[in-house]
Amino acid sequence: MTSFDAELEHRLDAIRRQHLLRGLRRVDSPQSTRVTIDSRAFLNFSSNDYLGLANHPALKNAAIEAIKKYGAGTGASRLVCGSLSPFHELEETLAVFKGTEAALTFSTGYATSLGAITALIGKEDIIAMDKLVHASIVDAAKLSGAKMRIFPHNDLEALEDILKWATTRTKGTAARTLVVTESIFSMDGDAAPLKEMVKLKDKYGVWLMVDEAHATGLYGKKQRGLIEAMGLSGQIEVQMGTLGKAIGASGGYICGSRALVDLLINRARSFIFSTAPVPAAAASAKVGIDLIGSSEGRKLNDTLWGRIEKFKNSFPKTKIASAIIPIILGDETKAIAVATQLYDKNILVPAIRYPTVRRGAARLRVTLNAAHSLQDMEKLV
Ligand SMILES: *Cc1c(COP(=O)(O)O)cnc(C)c1O
Repeated sequence: MTSFDAELEHRLDAIRRQHLLRGLRRVDSPQSTRVTIDSRAFLNFSSNDYLGLANHPALKNAAIEAIKKYGAGTGASRLVCGSLSPFHELEETLAVFKGTEAALTFSTGYATSLGAITALIGKEDIIAMDKLVHASIVDAAKLSGAKMRIFPHNDLEALEDILKWATTRTKGTAARTLVVTESIFSMDGDAAPLKEMVKLKDKYGVWLMVDEAHATGLYGKKQRGLIEAMGLSGQIEVQMGTLGKAIGASGGYICGSRALVDLLINRARSFIFSTAPVPAAAASAKVGIDLIGSSEGRKLNDTLWGRIEKFKNSFPKTKIASAIIPIILGDETKAIAVATQLYDKNILVPAIRYPTVRRGAARLRVTLNAAHSLQDMEKLV
């Protein structure tokens, strides 16, 4: 073994000793409510494909047609060798879906956070974010060089204190303050107090960015997300989300004003310095959004919420507000033991541990899918 590998093995041992070592499980089937691992069929409660679109014939077909028409790859960044039609069709569809002037897509949600936040703020500025925001937002905040202020989860008073401090600090300068939250939190499934946050950001004249990764396709009359459900469309500067969860494809997006999108095209480094995603992904995502807005999408949504209600009845003690159901076990070894027991029964439920959640807050994270049958649910319960 080289000294390089010996050093890395040493680090891996440290991770192992804390029961935090992770590995990949090879799946030999599409992602759906059933997956095949080691020739065994598993019931899958681990995916964010809430509406069952990842393996939907319409999305697969769109990808195939896009490949036939536009090929497999994209050659370069969209700014360098031209921007293929499927991206424009997707962005027009997204803007209409979200009710914003414009939209811009990125290769992933992670790249979206990184690109958008660092384009909007720099080291003179301030970023205030909820303690539980996604790692991509934390990484982006660090990369931006802005002063970071973290408020306890959904704590409006603490946020207001930060905004008061930021106001005195930035008075008479060009510095900006950006507040970032998720609408539905990825590991707890609870909602941010968006109405109150909009009031606060208006009161202090700061910007608000809301990540709807786990709400798009699930909330609101038109299933645009929690912003729509709370009647806040048009009041939030930056709407973000991913195309890889309920939408069923892959990629990330920002929706907002034309000026916002034009600035990102010029300043978002993860957009500028990265080869465009494959046209197949954009074409699938567009069909995913169309489908969510159709009567079929409505039906899938109703089914999903029916499943959530059913689960609530079986677990009256667990707080359930979305398709994400955290069953908190605390101890890392315990969470893994329970996940392993489920695995032995051919049920896939991930144990979520540090660093995804804080130490001692390990949990099973059950995610429900419109394609789960009632029997699937009963088996899990
Ligand atoms: C999944 C997720 C992302 C990242 O999106 P990807 O498309 O998976 O890179 C960003 N924010 C939140 C809240 C997420 O849950």
